[in-house]
Amino acid sequence: MGSREPGGRSPAQGWPGVGGQLAGRLARLDLYRQEDLILHLPLRYEDETRLTPIADARHGFPAQIEGEVVSCEVTLRPRRQLVARVRDASGTLVARWLNFYPSQQKQLSVGRSVRLFGEVRGGFFGDEMVHPRLRPVEPGEALPDALTPVYPTTAGVGQATLRKLIDLALRTVALDDPIPPAVCSRLGLPGFAEAVRALHHPAPDADPAALENREHPAWRRIKFEELLVQQLSLRRAYNARRALGAASLPPRRQLTQALLSQLAFSLTGAQQRAVAEISADLAAAHPMQRLLQGDVGSGKTVVAALAMLQAAENGWQAALMAPTEILAEQHYRKLHDWLAPLGIEVAWLSGSRKKREREAELARLHGGELLLAVGTHALIEDPVAMPKLALAVVDEQHRFGVRQRLALREKGQAGQRPHMLMMSATPIPRTLAMTHYADLDVSVLDELPPGRTPIRTRLVSDGRRDEVVGRVRDACLGGRQAYWVCPLIEESEALQLQTAVDTFEMLSADLPELNVGLIHGRLKADEKAATMAAFAAGDLQVLVATTVIEVGVDVPNASLMVIEHAERFGLAQLHQLRGRVGRGTAESVCILIYAQPLSETARARLKVIYEQTDGFAIASEDLHIRGPGEFVGARQSGVPLLRFASLEEDDDLIEPARALAERMLAREPKLAERLLTRWVGGREGLLRA
Ligand code: ADP
Ligand code: MG
Repeated sequence: MGSREPGGRSPAQGWPGVGGQLAGRLARLDLYRQEDLILHLPLRYEDETRLTPIADARHGFPAQIEGEVVSCEVTLRPRRQLVARVRDASGTLVARWLNFYPSQQKQLSVGRSVRLFGEVRGGFFGDEMVHPRLRPVEPGEALPDALTPVYPTTAGVGQATLRKLIDLALRTVALDDPIPPAVCSRLGLPGFAEAVRALHHPAPDADPAALENREHPAWRRIKFEELLVQQLSLRRAYNARRALGAASLPPRRQLTQALLSQLAFSLTGAQQRAVAEISADLAAAHPMQRLLQGDVGSGKTVVAALAMLQAAENGWQAALMAPTEILAEQHYRKLHDWLAPLGIEVAWLSGSRKKREREAELARLHGGELLLAVGTHALIEDPVAMPKLALAVVDEQHRFGVRQRLALREKGQAGQRPHMLMMSATPIPRTLAMTHYADLDVSVLDELPPGRTPIRTRLVSDGRRDEVVGRVRDACLGGRQAYWVCPLIEESEALQLQTAVDTFEMLSADLPELNVGLIHGRLKADEKAATMAAFAAGDLQVLVATTVIEVGVDVPNASLMVIEHAERFGLAQLHQLRGRVGRGTAESVCILIYAQPLSETARARLKVIYEQTDGFAIASEDLHIRGPGEFVGARQSGVPLLRFASLEEDDDLIEPARALAERMLAREPKLAERLLTRWVGGREGLLRA
């Protein structure tokens, strides 16, 4: 083996005509094996089947012209460039190259016929093409009769080189088809060989639009195969996890029952279902990997607490990790209030605790005397050892990176994987759940606890800010409380802070009869905690806040949420912020103050948040507006990303791919292996890290 890339692959070796330098460049394109070239598919196509007379070429549109070179020179001003004039029967055109090779100069000698493909525009010398594609031709030479593919490439690898390598690969590499013909014909898809040939060498009568927008059956076949490979690799990850060992934690119904009988409420049907699913997973001897998905306020915390108690009643440890100090402390207080009467202590690990308190707790966690811990990412830091950790719960999981979630998992004993419960209020749209998240089991809380009154949402332009201040005054004098969220200033943290302070001062001046508090990310952890506690206790009526309150904060008496410059926030953020109210019995209102002019996206977002209160509907609209990028960014494991298939446009192929993957792994594992080799080569392990 030669030197290996970080991905565990070495650059191409032993291909005809490919030396070390080219091999290195191909590696940048992720082309390591000849087989990779087959799936290096065109980015787009160009139509070189027609010639446009120079006089008819429209500015700003690609065109191909053919003519005779009437002059060619290297000019030095305004900068060094190659300038040629080409003439046909209708007119003359200038072609310029800023970087050029001697060979190009030779092809452009006066009197020769050339074809130029590029965009025409008005230039200093008249109509011109800058860096057109150049092809010398014999007069009267036939035009290509089909579209020309244009490949993704990198510096130093020309289209012609790629085309040559790909053509060779098409002749050399086995184009066997692991997908049964019956499946293909049912879905109206061509075989593999036919599909890749059609994409690399479109037929003269191929529909150019279908090729361009990737709806051609050949594209659909490739996209189906890609989705199938994704399903196969997810399925294998899932099976591999089930082969690992974990502590079996059967429900003993001692502690869990004690908590249930002591709660002031009874569980909703959805909570009961989720608890049963989690409880069954915990009893198994392989690690659970479950996502508990429930809209803001659906009551995920108590479900997590019950799971943690099931670990504790088996003598094992459980940890709950939250993304912010505020949230971690709130969880700690809630668990403490619930569990102290049962005689169970909870460790609280956060950056803000005194060293001495911390060390005592760490020692007791290490010794296994303390079974339950709540904290921020302080939990995953080094001094924390929980040798009997059997359950790791991650709240607002999308706020953590993959690495942080994995680090929590590593806290247990070597060789034993803790069960993982991830919680999120950001629902995963159906197509993503079936693809990028398919190695997770999911429990859904699709029901809110009773007694909630729906939140009314108001859109108000910033000219009416005074009226909004008046509403805050009325609500608070009536015994309620309000959040006032400051405008988001993403570019500058300093400016963000200044805005928060200004807003606080302004509201304090406008509302002298009320106690106004301020909370932002720069406060020390104990200052934040003190402010939150004062707000929760009702000593503060108005809380001016940056988005530090975005997730999880639970103060049921707060019934008014004001968000300034709402047009700057993302949909998920607005939904989370709005979810801070509507937690008690009073009618809650969310006022979104916006400033004109609104961008089209901002307008679309505000419309969605105004019309929808359901988190699932909002998330799927969000997927529409933004595309899957950000959702995928929070995916569980490095599942292969999709190069060709689109979850929106090809969602009809996902279910058939899933079904076939299952069948293939059960009945034809060799074919599954073949597909994985073709698509991901030896990289599957890395992708799943
Ligand atoms: P989230 O799912 O957003 O994390 P929480 O767990 O913070 O929601 O719960 C929101 C509020 O609802 C809390 O005050 C919690 O105690 C309360 N709650 C949870 N489950 C129920 C229930 N079944 N009935 C009534 N209130 C509940
Ligand atoms: Mg929560």
